[in-house]
Amino acid sequence: KTNLVWFRNDLRVLDNPALSKACEDKDASVIGLYIATPQQWRAHDMSARQVCFIHDRLIELQKELAALNIPLLFQTSDNFTDSIDEIVQLCKKHAVDQIFYNNQYEYNERKRDRLLKDKLDSDIKCFEFDGNLFSTPLTVLNGQQQMYKVFTPFRNAFLDLFIQNIPNIHSKPEPRKKLTIKANKIAALDYPKEDYDFFVPDIQKALEKLEEFCAEKVEDYTEKRDIPSLDYTSHLSAYLALGVISVRQCFQYLVQEYPDFWEKQKSGAFTWFNELIWREFYQHLIVAHPYLCKHKPFIDWTDRIKWKNNPDHFEQWKTGNTGYPIIDAAMRQLNQTGWMHNRLRMITASFLVKDLLIDWRWGERYFMSQLTDGDLAANNGGWQWAASTGTDSTPYFRIFNPTTQGQRFDPKGDFIRQWIPELAKVPDKFIHEPHIWAEKNGKLIDYPQPVVIHDIARKETLEAFEAAKKSA
Ligand code: FAD
Repeated sequence: KTNLVWFRNDLRVLDNPALSKACEDKDASVIGLYIATPQQWRAHDMSARQVCFIHDRLIELQKELAALNIPLLFQTSDNFTDSIDEIVQLCKKHAVDQIFYNNQYEYNERKRDRLLKDKLDSDIKCFEFDGNLFSTPLTVLNGQQQMYKVFTPFRNAFLDLFIQNIPNIHSKPEPRKKLTIKANKIAALDYPKEDYDFFVPDIQKALEKLEEFCAEKVEDYTEKRDIPSLDYTSHLSAYLALGVISVRQCFQYLVQEYPDFWEKQKSGAFTWFNELIWREFYQHLIVAHPYLCKHKPFIDWTDRIKWKNNPDHFEQWKTGNTGYPIIDAAMRQLNQTGWMHNRLRMITASFLVKDLLIDWRWGERYFMSQLTDGDLAANNGGWQWAASTGTDSTPYFRIFNPTTQGQRFDPKGDFIRQWIPELAKVPDKFIHEPHIWAEKNGKLIDYPQPVVIHDIARKETLEAFEAAKKSA
């Protein structure tokens, strides 16, 4: 028998159910495959950083698989449809009997997988796994057998099921007998090159980071996770988005340090696990409501909001020149590193939508184009939360004040000074309103004036949302 493992966003050997299952039959020949689809990625706004990280990670994965005598074949197709033709050809060439893969849940990806099943010869079987989640979408349902619309009841139902059936990790497959098929070089991709920070392709280093986080930081996560200058979150997001590490591995390391942590819901361990359940929630949501992948809001009437969409304001937001220090520091962190702290993703998203009255989809796309951890479900969920267009959203009339948010989460301006050196000399007390200090003291600072006045912008936004709601 010949088994093909089609790697997608599960770029790992450990705890990879598709790979483990393909290796169960000791006598089967196992081949790995990865198909890069640059044109499709461009259409999905995938960042150059993410593509570079995938490329670097594939080089490592190929070596890890080679140690098991599994050749990882690498191919490039422009788009998903062409990639299916490649697989059909490859199955013929290598007389493949069975294909194994871990599910992806985005609309186009699911359509691609259906196309594969349509195009394959009927004697080739496909085996699908939910390797990147704790649970299978559409199995955590409310009393009406529907997907929850709100996170907390979803979380509670998820936990009930999860605790009854705590998952095991799939161990690394045993080395197999050598094949004559040779792996080919992971070629350079037709995409711009860009450095990414925080993430490394070496799996040992990535797992060490997870281990260190669980041992050293999780305990204080509840208190410190919202303060960007403390840097107390895990920085594991790109590993999870690309499946370099699985959520089950996160659970495994966490439970080693904190057995039964789910019984202490105020603990740092539980708070962190709760974030992994948010990830799960958003992945389930895009399966229950595929239109979320097609630029549609969860709440219909919000599609009638009359956005201002001022291109100059959008540019000022993107480049970190809005005159609101916390927003600008955050956007500069994103632009320079490809990662942004969660609290700041919430504040910058709210600012774009509710201070600048720019369509949330513009921001969603921009984030995707910069993030190394870009993930449709989490990004869409986060943007729709901030824009009050999604499930569980913050109500539209609750609007963050960018100055007080900055005062609350970066009280002394440590984070701001790190990213906006122009403000280095502004005293702590005025770091969130540097122009007030500059005027009072006759100083000149090389920093823009606020692009809008928050109180006025807030009123306009409320009017725009109310008008859209009334016309429903
Ligand atoms: P930690 O705090 O250590 O959390 C651990 C893991 O839990 C994360 O790595 C991530 O996989 C998951 N997670 C945490 N918070 C969330 C959340 N709110 N929703 C879903 N999953 C979560 N996350 C992405 O992975 N990709 C995105 O494209 C993305 N876009 C976002 C856009 C907006 C507007 C907002 C508000 C949030 C977005 N998030 C996204 C969620 C969150 O901000 C990041 O996952 C987190 O900042 C990553 O840092 P970390 O790994 O240190 O997180």
